[in-house]
Amino acid sequence: PQHGQLILEVDNIRKEFGGLVAVNDISFNIQAGQIMGLIGPNGAGKSTTFNLITGVHPLTSGSVRFMGQEIAALSSRKIAALGVGRTFQHVQLLPTMSVLENVALGAHLRVNTGIMQSLLHIERDSEAQMLQEAKKQLERVGLGNYLHEQAGNLSLGQQRIVEIARALALDPTLLLLDEPAAGLRYKEKQELASVLSGLRDEGMSILLVEHDMDFVMRLTNHLVVMDFGTRIAEGTPEQIQVDPVVLEAYLGG
Ligand code: ADP
Ligand code: MG
Repeated sequence: PQHGQLILEVDNIRKEFGGLVAVNDISFNIQAGQIMGLIGPNGAGKSTTFNLITGVHPLTSGSVRFMGQEIAALSSRKIAALGVGRTFQHVQLLPTMSVLENVALGAHLRVNTGIMQSLLHIERDSEAQMLQEAKKQLERVGLGNYLHEQAGNLSLGQQRIVEIARALALDPTLLLLDEPAAGLRYKEKQELASVLSGLRDEGMSILLVEHDMDFVMRLTNHLVVMDFGTRIAEGTPEQIQVDPVVLEAYLGG
């Protein structure tokens, strides 16, 4: 896509779980080459928003268009195949397999299907081709020296980056990350931030869902803030940082 082209249009999406409005008519757009930050306190509705976009949950109402196509009614598998890549909040690597093998499996990993199911489909593609693609993506994110290391031996920060490489192996147009910096140490956050800004500079579009406001603010010039399912603010980091409503949500809650 051309830089600045509309990649994702989220229009008044709503999710009710029984009487609870987890996502209350949220709208935002993502353009090509943009990192869009979605932040908010725990329970704000960030992951539910993520799950609505990726087809994990059906919408109560609203619409989601990806590259101009309505995707709200599609299965998560179909949405992934169209070019919406994602990582999972909890690391899903096979710890005793190599980093390279874990990423090669990504070519088969589909949203909402487990890694074991991916293993069953492995003979469908040429194994050599998958390994080649996996190597390329690991080099792209700076892990070219860890190809044959057991995934479980890597730091948590490196494992999160392996998961990003695995999502990249599916050649996504849009990458959705749910709290990739959670639990990372300062240096690991720095490394992750540099991988993400590198991808953005290559033109990747990213929706970055984070609890850690400082981490997001380093990476984006556009943020949406949610609290109790509702969009309470939208703007640049400079605007958000001094917004009394945001400060109240984070500190007063
Ligand atoms: P966040 O990711 O911002 O921490 P979530 O989207 O996980 O917030 O949760 C938003 C609200 O929706 C919370 O009150 C949570 O308990 C509720 N919720 C999330 N998923 C479900 C579900 N599957 N069933 C019922 N309630 C849910
Ligand atoms: Mg969450």
